[in-house]
Parts: sequence; C-alpha cells; structure tokens
Amino acid sequence: MPSIGLLGGTFDPIHFGHLRMAQELAEALALDEVRFIPAATPPHKPTPSISSAHRAAMVQLAIGHNPIFKFDNRELLRAGASYTIDTLISLRNELDENTSLVLFMGSDAFTHFNTWHNWEKIIQLCHIALVQRPVSSIKQPLPKVLETFLHNHYTENVDDLRETNAGYVTMQSITPLDISSTAIRSNLQNKNSARYLMPDSVLDYIESNMLYNNGAQ
Ligand code: ATP
Repeated sequence: MPSIGLLGGTFDPIHFGHLRMAQELAEALALDEVRFIPAATPPHKPTPSISSAHRAAMVQLAIGHNPIFKFDNRELLRAGASYTIDTLISLRNELDENTSLVLFMGSDAFTHFNTWHNWEKIIQLCHIALVQRPVSSIKQPLPKVLETFLHNHYTENVDDLRETNAGYVTMQSITPLDISSTAIRSNLQNKNSARYLMPDSVLDYIESNMLYNNGAQ
C-alpha cells in the first residue's frame, strides 16, 4: 500500500539532521512521500524563538528540490497546542484507509513519548520509525511503560510497515549527524557561522531576515 512518512518538529530552524534522517528513512522504508509538518505550539518544548511563518518558509526552501518531500501546514492552521494525535486524525480523514503512515521520531523525543497527549492511541493511527540521535549523551533510561510498548509493537521487518497501515514500531540506523537547532541558534547568536549544517538557501533566508542574531523576532 502507499506509504507516507511524517516528520513533525519545531524546525527552529530546519537543518541537515532533519533532512538526512528523512532521506534515509524514505529509502530504508521505501516510502512514497515524506511530509514535513512544522508545529505551531509544540506541547513539550518552549515556544519557538521566531514566527511560524519564518519556520515554515525555511522548511519549504529546504525541501523544495526533493520531489518526495512535501510541506504540510495543518498544525500551523490549527489553534492551540500541536498534538500529534490531532494531526494523525486529520490526515486519516483525508487519506485512503489503505495508506501506511510512518511517524519519524528521534531517540530523544521517544524517551518521553508516554507523556504525549493520548499517546497510546497514536500507534492505532500510524507506525513509528525511531532513529538514534547522537546527542543522546545524556542517556535517559526508557520508562517501563515505553519498554512494554516497544515489546508489543516492535518489528525489524520493514515490509510490515508497508503491508499494514499502522501498529508497528521499527528502529532504523542512519548516518549520525550531531546537529541540533539549539546548537545552530547558539552559533548564530554568538555571531558564528551555521554554514554546512543546513542548506545554503536556509542560511541565506536567515541572513536576509536577520533571524536569531538579535534574539527573538
Ligand atoms: P531543538 O534543538 O530546538 O530542540 P531539534 O534539532 O531537536 O530542535 P526538532 O525540530 O525539534 O529539531 O526535531 C524534530 C524531529 O527531528 C525530532 O523527532 C528530533 O528527534 C528529530 N531530529 C532532529 N535533529 C536530528 C538529528 N540530527 N538526527 C536525527 N533526528 C533528528
């Protein structure tokens, strides 16, 4: 069945860690499309330091040349906290039932997945593809409830994710890129370059709109 990858995030700003993860998961899982879904108000993080319009513009610039990467602005159009469950329900209302949805998640995000709104319902609406993030030097032990969750849903067979529309969790190894938006923001605030951490088009956008240099805009 058709398979769509979903990468939600703050994208404050988007960087090669996001893009490479999406590319490698798309290939490993034979996905037909990957949707980049910027969060308006992320429930588990501080409010982004720049406007959602700027974050969205940078995502569009970064993915523009890849025919399977698509921009999805549904969370930006919704009022209130950007809950993944609501995004999945909205996607499911639009898509053919026989569409596999695969939610991408870095290991850092998964360690607190059990605190997400209606987290246990999420797996009824999509699969989850986990990737290890090199920044996890602060190794948080996985809560017992997530260990059980993995035990119940885990598969190493990527075909499972194409043959059913939801219900599996898989772990994929990708090229580790120790890049984070936090580190990029800090580079820029300290007047250091963020070159080679993100596409030049995004860097040009940041420079011409004077983002991050002078604090929140
Ligand atoms: P911040 O530093 O502001 O917290 P971030 O770099 O973690 O931001 P997000 O937009 O919050 O970026 O990330 C969206 C998703 O992409 C999350 O699931 C996150 O784990 C994943 N991700 C971000 N950077 C990487 C990376 N370098 N490698 C793998 N996954 C990543």
